[in-house]
Amino acid sequence: MNIILLGPPGAGKGTQAAHLVESRDMIQLSTGDMLRAAKTSGTEMGKKVAAIMDAGELVTDEIVIGLIREKLEGDKKGGFIFDGFPRTLTQADALEDLLEETGEKLDAVIALAVNDEVLVDRIVGRAAEAVAAGGTARADDNEESLKVRLMEYYKKTNALIGYYHAKGNLVWVDGLAEIDDVKAEIAEALG
Ligand code: AMP
Repeated sequence: MNIILLGPPGAGKGTQAAHLVESRDMIQLSTGDMLRAAKTSGTEMGKKVAAIMDAGELVTDEIVIGLIREKLEGDKKGGFIFDGFPRTLTQADALEDLLEETGEKLDAVIALAVNDEVLVDRIVGRAAEAVAAGGTARADDNEESLKVRLMEYYKKTNALIGYYHAKGNLVWVDGLAEIDDVKAEIAEALG
């Protein structure tokens, strides 16, 4: 089973993906995690995307499609969870082509319904928790970058709701519910 977790920053995609990895032996493909790893290890690509990511803007379709293409060639286990990808219609079309090439298909798109106030609270909370735990907050988990990230979401990613609705893949889940209830709703949607 291959699924997309769709929703703005702070909607709970990462939390739910981690649960699906454990409960269904699926593979989480988070382009955000891949890009942060490239940034940390200082690869050419990492250097190229660092400032864009910190500002909260989207990196180019070409880069993220390349990252996903590489991963689809590897082990499939219980299927892929696309977390934070696709984020544009171009990426969505590319994903469809890539899955087709590997004989796979998309089984469901789980859209997490949330509201902006909760997102800001969650992101600010996540940054505070990281610091309290002795680490550092994500460079883009600050109010200024968050504003840009939300705007990028509504301008470029929100169109995917209509796209997947039209394809018949879309399932809405209440992302404001308790984490366990969100898990249960997703489990029910996936059958
Ligand atoms: P995330 O961890 O999903 O919130 O992603 C963090 C940042 O990585 C985003 O704000 C973008 O700069 C970049 N990014 C992650 N995934 C994508 C994507 N699919 N398309 C473009 N940029 C992305």
